[in-house]
Amino acid sequence: MTVSVILSNKGHNVFTVDPDEKVEAVAQLLAGKRIGAVLATSGDGKVVGIVSERDLIRAIAQKGASALKRPISDFMTTNVVTCQGTDSIAVLMEKMTAGKFRHLPVLKGGKLDGIVSIGDVVKQRIAETEFEANAMREYISTG
Ligand code: AMP
Repeated sequence: MTVSVILSNKGHNVFTVDPDEKVEAVAQLLAGKRIGAVLATSGDGKVVGIVSERDLIRAIAQKGASALKRPISDFMTTNVVTCQGTDSIAVLMEKMTAGKFRHLPVLKGGKLDGIVSIGDVVKQRIAETEFEANAMREYISTG
């Protein structure tokens, strides 16, 4: 199973923000869209950072309420780990575990093609496990 299977189920939509966007606006976007992370992109669409709810918590812990008026570039992670649609889900899980994060942008030809969260991975793994269990039950009952 590859990352592209997850994207074909969930779609390729990715929410992006400008790195100059204020922390307050990004918090509103995450809450409003019910998502855990958003990518910061430059004018040409290049990924320049990732901001997750953890970064917002850290920003408020460090700077208090004044963090809300600061640009998200002050708190985002700029060394973004990405994956390809052709990567296996096992590789994806290894990257998330090694990096201790729950989001991976998917690139295609260097361009943003989607984003996968740990919730998407769990959903896919459960579907696969159920499919395998049903196939085995059928095999046993017809054997
Ligand atoms: P998360 O677990 O995804 O909420 O993120 C935890 C921390 O890892 C935050 O500081 C994020 O900015 C950072 N992070 C999330 N995803 C990535 C990624 N794909 N590459 C690098 N850092 C990330």
